[in-house]
Amino acid sequence: MVDATWGTGEAPRDVLGPVKAEPAFDDDHPPRKDLIADCVHCGFCLPTCPTYVLWGAEADSPRGRIYLMNEGVGGEPLSDSMVEHFDRCLGCMSCVTACPSGVRYDRLIEDTRAQIERRHTRTPKDRALRAAIFALFPYPKRLRLLRGPLRAYQISGLQSLVARTGLLARLAPTLATLDSLAPRLRSVPRPPRRIPARGRRRAVVGMLTGCVQSAFFPDVNSATVRVLAAEGCEVLIPPAQGCCGALSVHNGRKEEAKRFARRLIALFEKTGMDYFVVNAAGCGSSLKEYDELLADDPAYASRAKAFTAKVRDLAELLAELGPVATRHPLDVTVAYHDACHLAHAQGIRAQPRALLRGIPGLTLKEIADPEICCGSAGVWNVLNPEPAAQLGDRKAADVLATGASVLVTANPGCLMQVAAGIRRQGGAIALAHTAQVLDASIRDLGAGALVSGR
Ligand code: SF4
Ligand code: SF4
Repeated sequence: MVDATWGTGEAPRDVLGPVKAEPAFDDDHPPRKDLIADCVHCGFCLPTCPTYVLWGAEADSPRGRIYLMNEGVGGEPLSDSMVEHFDRCLGCMSCVTACPSGVRYDRLIEDTRAQIERRHTRTPKDRALRAAIFALFPYPKRLRLLRGPLRAYQISGLQSLVARTGLLARLAPTLATLDSLAPRLRSVPRPPRRIPARGRRRAVVGMLTGCVQSAFFPDVNSATVRVLAAEGCEVLIPPAQGCCGALSVHNGRKEEAKRFARRLIALFEKTGMDYFVVNAAGCGSSLKEYDELLADDPAYASRAKAFTAKVRDLAELLAELGPVATRHPLDVTVAYHDACHLAHAQGIRAQPRALLRGIPGLTLKEIADPEICCGSAGVWNVLNPEPAAQLGDRKAADVLATGASVLVTANPGCLMQVAAGIRRQGGAIALAHTAQVLDASIRDLGAGALVSGR
C-alpha cells in the first residue's frame, strides 16, 4: 500500500499502523545485561560524578545512565535525549572507583558508545565537529604541523589581543576553547630511537611518544627518557608510532581504535622490550585494555594479551623498579592532581606521590575533591566547552587554594585544562609532569627549573 504522504514533503506514516522503532542496541556487543544487573541502585557513585555534581539530574548520574542502558537492552529506541545523557558522560571512571558493588561502568559505557556511533545519526554540526577532531587529534604528524602557526600566533601577541576582545568566545566557542587550552610551545629536539641505560641496565623499555604529548609537550617526553635512562632503563622509541587509539575507543570508534592498536602492537613486539611505558594517563588506560579490545580478533588476541601484560605507567614502572639515581633537593611546594585515567581507571595513586615524596626538600600538597574530574576527559572539553570550563574552574580554585607553586599531574589534557582554568581566574602556577619533577631532581637543576614557566 502506498503511503499517502509519499512525495508531499511530509514525514512518512505507516498506513498499516504505528511504526515500531528500532531497539536502541543491536547484537554486536550491546551493554551487557549481567553487568547492568550488578547495579543495586545504592547511589554511592552519585557525589563523585562530575555531571551529577554540576546538574543534580538523575539521568546525568552513573545510576541514571545505567537505567537508560537497561531501557535500551529492554528494546526501547535510542532517543536523542538518551544519547545526550550518554554523551554528557566524561568517561572519568570516578563512579567505578566509588561503586561498592564493583559495577563495570567502564565496559558498559564503552559498549554503549560504540552502539551510538554506529546506530545514531548526529546533527550535521556535531558530525562535522567530530569529523574534524578525529581527522586531527589521533595523528601526531598533523598535530605537529600546527606547532609553527600556533607558535607564531602566541609570540606575535595576536593570542592576547584575541583573548582581550572576547570575540572568539562569542563567535566560535569551540575554537575559543581550543585557543584557551593551547600550551606555550617550546622547541625541543626529538629523542633518538634508542637511548642506552646509565649504569647497569635493569630493563629494556619501549616508550609511547603519544599524539598531543609529542606535539605539544615534547619536553615531557625528553624528561621521561632521561629519568628512565638514569634509573637503568634502555629506552626504545621506534618512529612512526601513530596513535594508541585511546581517543577513538573512549568515543565509541572501536574499529578505528582496533586499527591503531594492531599497528602499535606489530611495531613494538619486534623490539624485544621488557616493558612498554606510557607517560599519558588516558593512553595508558586504553593500552592496558588492548586484550579486551582485540579479544575477538584471532590474529591479534594472544598478541594483545602479551602486549597488555607489559604496559606500565611511568610512575608504576619506576615504583616497581625502585630508585637507583640520586635525588637532589628541590625546595618547592607542589600540588599533585590525580588524572582520572590514572587514579580511577588504573588505580595508580600511591606511586606518583611516593616518587614525589622521595625528593628531598619537596612539599606535597593534596587538592580538595581529588575524585572529581577537571573536565578535560579527552576531547570532552572540546565537545562540551561550557560545562568543561565550569569543572576546570572548580579544579583551578582547589589547586590555587593549596598555595603550591607547581601543579603536577600525569596527563597532557589535565595540564592544559587546569592551566586554562587558572588563567581565567587570574592565578599563576607552574605546570609539570611527574617526569619533569624527577628529572629536575636527578639532574640537580633546582626548583627554579620548575617554577620558571610560571
Ligand atoms: S564516568 Fe564519570 S561522568 Fe560518566 S557516569 Fe561515571 S562518574 Fe559520571
Ligand atoms: S554505586 Fe554502583 S551499585 Fe550503587 S548506584 Fe552507583 S553504579 Fe549502581
